[in-house]
Amino acid sequence: MTARSLRLTADGRLDGAPLLDDPRLARVLDLLDRDGEEARVVGGAVRNALLGLPPGDIDVATTALPAAVMARAKAARVRAIPTGIEHGTVTLVSGGLPVEVTTLREDVETDGRHAVVRFGRDFERDAERRDFTVNALSLGRDGRIHDTTGGVADLAAGRLRFIGDAATRIREDYLRILRFFRFHATYGVGPLDAQGLAAAVAGRDGLDRLSRERVRGEVMKLLASPGAAGVLATLDAEGLLARILGGDADVARMARLADPDPVLRLHALAVRGGADVERLRDGLKLSNAERDRMQAALTVLASGAPPGSDAPSVGAVRALLFDHGREATRDALRLAAAGPDARGDWAAALAAAEGEIPATPFSGKDVVARGLKGPAVGEALARFRAAYRDAGFPEDAAAREALLGASLAP
Ligand code: ATP
Ligand code: MG
Repeated sequence: MTARSLRLTADGRLDGAPLLDDPRLARVLDLLDRDGEEARVVGGAVRNALLGLPPGDIDVATTALPAAVMARAKAARVRAIPTGIEHGTVTLVSGGLPVEVTTLREDVETDGRHAVVRFGRDFERDAERRDFTVNALSLGRDGRIHDTTGGVADLAAGRLRFIGDAATRIREDYLRILRFFRFHATYGVGPLDAQGLAAAVAGRDGLDRLSRERVRGEVMKLLASPGAAGVLATLDAEGLLARILGGDADVARMARLADPDPVLRLHALAVRGGADVERLRDGLKLSNAERDRMQAALTVLASGAPPGSDAPSVGAVRALLFDHGREATRDALRLAAAGPDARGDWAAALAAAEGEIPATPFSGKDVVARGLKGPAVGEALARFRAAYRDAGFPEDAAAREALLGASLAP
């Protein structure tokens, strides 16, 4: 049974290939895939091309050794940056398009702690070192899709499956637990692969060994994916979610949030109060901006202006915009609208949060002109702003003047 159709011809070629039609990528393949060496597009870009989706970053694998990649690029006047040359990776920048070119590798032996890797010439072995069948496809310059692990059938069926034994592959790299859930939430259809899920649950202790930056990267991508709610519910049921977040999660609240913004989704999922934000800041390496954004939304929610679960009026939303700005207001309203028993016209409230933010019609200069000086100026202006807001931002000049007059004295 196939869940979706792929851009694949009957003879195994990419059908209508905007990826290969890009002359910047063609140039890279052209300089590498010749004179006894082979080069193919690999990984996510091939998967996405088959699904008709734009590529993320473009990765190319080649038999050419890193020094040869550099030399060929130089001869073709393509910029080459030795980004990870000791691991075999060179970034070629072709007409502004960065293409990560990696020499084929194979594991020679594993001493239990780290694999000994050497450069190889075998695309099949390269595919086997990758994580999931749908991530192990490669694409030749001629448009041919090479599939040695069953990735095409899995992609069509929406099956996210480890290459080889899931438990073994997870022991090699525990990040693959998170990648399993993340890729299923993005490309999977239906339930998670049973063998993969069982191995992920069994290997959960390995999550503690991962760097927080790597965990953060996968969690944010998972949160942004279309299937996030379903996968998070499974993670929660299996006891993995509290471990990843370091605290309780509310998957239902996140699921009610229409917005795909991963920071807002994380807020809905894991934040009840300021202490949760601080915990996530350390545990999931939130940036200062992300932390501040979450705290600002909490401030708006705590102001009580979206009262309980009732949608605030358009006027009340304007007051929030005036006091707290666009982002905090928008975030707070979206979170409140995702509450368990939100009532009223939240669509109107959310639309109002995109409206014009009322401007303050007077400045310090106007207050000085009315005889005040020093700190009293700012204080009077603050009183005016509150009165102006409470009066519903009157347009009328005389009404504004009256409010300013009343604000001059404490
Ligand atoms: P995205 O669109 O999210 O970037 P991607 O498939 O390009 O998806 P990357 O994380 O950029 O994912 O990795 C590129 C490729 O490298 C993958 O498709 C996969 O083949 C391989 N890969 C990446 N990380 C791992 C890993 N931890 N274990 C095995 N293979 C991996
Ligand atoms: Mg990628």
